Amino acid sequence: MNTVTVLLDIPSDLVPQATYVFHFFGNAWGLHIDVCCNKDGRAPFHIYYGNRDRAPSSNKAVIIECEALFYDSKSVRSYVEQDGLAECGKDGSPVIGFDVVASVFRLLTMADEQQIISTSRDRLGNFFVDALPEYRRGSIDLPLVDYYAAFLLDKLLCLAPEFRTSVMPRWPNGKKFAVCLSHDCDLTCMGAPLELATAVVKGFVRRKRVFFDMALEGVKCFGSPMDSTLWGFSGWHEFEKDHKMKSCFYLSLSPRKSWRRLNDCKSDVFARGVDWKVFQSMHKEGWEFGLHPSLDAQMDLEEIILQKKAIEERLEAPIMGLRHHYLAIDNFNPHLTFQKHVEAGFVYDSSLGWEEKAGFRSGTSLPFYPYDPLNKAPFTLTELPLSLMDTYVMHDGDTDSAIKEGRRISSLVRDIGGMIMLNWHTESYCSNYIFSNYLLVLRNILEPLLEHNDIWVATPVEIAEWWNNRNRELQHQLLG
Ligand SMILES: [Zn+2]
Repeated sequence: MNTVTVLLDIPSDLVPQATYVFHFFGNAWGLHIDVCCNKDGRAPFHIYYGNRDRAPSSNKAVIIECEALFYDSKSVRSYVEQDGLAECGKDGSPVIGFDVVASVFRLLTMADEQQIISTSRDRLGNFFVDALPEYRRGSIDLPLVDYYAAFLLDKLLCLAPEFRTSVMPRWPNGKKFAVCLSHDCDLTCMGAPLELATAVVKGFVRRKRVFFDMALEGVKCFGSPMDSTLWGFSGWHEFEKDHKMKSCFYLSLSPRKSWRRLNDCKSDVFARGVDWKVFQSMHKEGWEFGLHPSLDAQMDLEEIILQKKAIEERLEAPIMGLRHHYLAIDNFNPHLTFQKHVEAGFVYDSSLGWEEKAGFRSGTSLPFYPYDPLNKAPFTLTELPLSLMDTYVMHDGDTDSAIKEGRRISSLVRDIGGMIMLNWHTESYCSNYIFSNYLLVLRNILEPLLEHNDIWVATPVEIAEWWNNRNRELQHQLLG
């Protein structure tokens, strides 16, 4: 037997959302899912989702109580943690009284963020986690969705142990969790006029010498950016070779047709003196390059396409993924940005992370397909959630706390068999100036992980392709 049959006994307008969640569970579990709505036509079923009192008693199944109101993003609800998932028996069928399906839908679609008032957001809809409704704030650093998936699978396998032999491994070669290193490339040429000017202004405004030192560095390497200590590419290349791993660099560039914003990147690898043969050669060795779109790009499909093409032309290879600068997707309506990613031809995005804290914005550490509310179906785009970034942990210069926090998040992901996406900015490799100790902290988080034999280290595109192939195989699995 290799198909889990799910019977939905819920209002018809909720069927697409619940179906979406069960297919997410199917990917998380590695099991083929068949969702049906006809109580009489299909038997046996393994999961019943609806009103527990109406669940057919002729069939033992995992019963999940549906609470339709929870699908309304305006409703206020709390999420229970791993050990709080209630369960009570009914004629041998486990009954889950907490609506894990609606909860997962809310989390994956970031529905709770709809309650954030506009005054707590900036122009692009970005917000700090303090603006979240209180009931969501307490769980920003927990992969709740992964916990719910594991809980439900446990109940299913107790009831139908025959599925144990059908489970498709989550990661290749029996690996138990995945680690992915990536680099947003914000500051690539310190000698660029805008970088120099900004450093000088910051030096005066913040009264900090470090910015004048950076400006001096820029003057020294003017016209030859690859000689600057802030040019991180070669450093990361060596570092990763030493650690037997490869990563992805998300390259930024100036807006092609829209306005430059104050916080857009002030230098890029299109500057004079940058030899793209270095990138072409790294790409041939297996390093990945993606796009780091400028702030307003998410509003304009053509801008995204132009930026993608500009990199592809110089790299002489297609690029598959992106992460927005400042994670600036349309945070009022994230699906509008995902739609543009699909139309621009991207395979994956990795922009879903909190603004300033490590954790799990969509409640999961796993790759998933964002929900398209217009077509009531998943997008053909893989989301690789960003859980741990240098700036999330590197504040106050307290390296011990930064290492502790990074290790805490990575062990949560390891324990649940998920994927940890790390983002250390290219320029932070120098571990100098305002990036002091950045590399030290990364080493202390990453190196203990690499000691495990059950870790799969891969580039983002390798993870996305693995997940997509596995998804296709699960979708097309023959009925047993
Ligand atoms: Zn950036």
